[in-house]
Amino acid sequence: MTHDSGTYESGTSEAETIEAARILFARPAVFLMGAAKIDQLPAPDLPEVAFAGRSNVGKSSLINGLVNQKHLARASNEPGRTREVNFFVLDERLRLVDLPGYGFAKVSRETAKKFQNLGRSYLRGRPNLKRVYLLIDSRHGLKAPDKEAMDALDLAAVSYQIVLTKADKLKPAEVEKVTAETLEAIRKRPAAFPRVQATSSEKGFGLPELRAEIAQACEIDLGGI
Ligand code: GDP
Repeated sequence: MTHDSGTYESGTSEAETIEAARILFARPAVFLMGAAKIDQLPAPDLPEVAFAGRSNVGKSSLINGLVNQKHLARASNEPGRTREVNFFVLDERLRLVDLPGYGFAKVSRETAKKFQNLGRSYLRGRPNLKRVYLLIDSRHGLKAPDKEAMDALDLAAVSYQIVLTKADKLKPAEVEKVTAETLEAIRKRPAAFPRVQATSSEKGFGLPELRAEIAQACEIDLGGI
C-alpha cells in the first residue's frame, strides 16, 4: 500500500503524475475486439498492459473502475466475451487487455485449458506488452493457481505486478499485513515488480496510483497531457 514518495520522473511530483494519469483515464476508452485464437490478436502497434487473475477476483470491476465506466469490461459470470482475450483502447494511446480468468469453476478442464493456453500464448509472444497486473483477492492472498501464473511469467520474463483487489473488505491493518506478506513472497521472483498495490474498485482507493503506474509502464508522455 505504501508508495515511494518524491518524484516519479525528473521534475514531476507524484501528485502531478497522478493528476495527469487521472486526466488520461478520463478520456474515451472503447472495446476494440475479443480474440478467441492467437492469430486474431490486433497488430502490436500500441503499448499494452494486461490484467490476469482467478475468476471472480474483481478483474472486470477493476478495469471498469480505472476508466470510470460501469460496463466496459464484463463480469465473468456473464456469457460471451469473458473467455476471450479482450482489448480496450484508451485515448487511442494504449490498450488494456483483459485475459481469461484462471481457475474456472464452471467450465470443463478441457475448456479451461484451452483458454489458459490462449492467455499464455498471448503473454509469451507480445512485443508491445509492457506489464501484466496479476490480481489477487486481498482476503485470500496468493493461492496455488496464482503461483503457477507467476512461475509462467517468470519463465517467460514478462514483467508483472501484484494488485490486491477488494481491499475495502479488510481493515487497514489487515491490508498492510497481506501487502507485506505478498511482497515477501515475490521478493525472489525475477520478473515481479517489487511493489504491491492494494485497491478497491468499490471505494476507488488505489486506483489513482494504479493509473499512474500504467501510464508510466506504457511510457505515455504525461507532461503532454
Ligand atoms: P471478475 O470475475 O474477476 O471479472 O470479477 P468481477 O469484477 O465480476 O467481481 C466479482 C465480484 O466481486 C462481484 O460480485 C463484484 O461486485 C465484487 N467486487 C469486485 N471488486 C470489488 C471491490 O473492490 N470491493 C468489493 N467489496 N467487492 C468487489
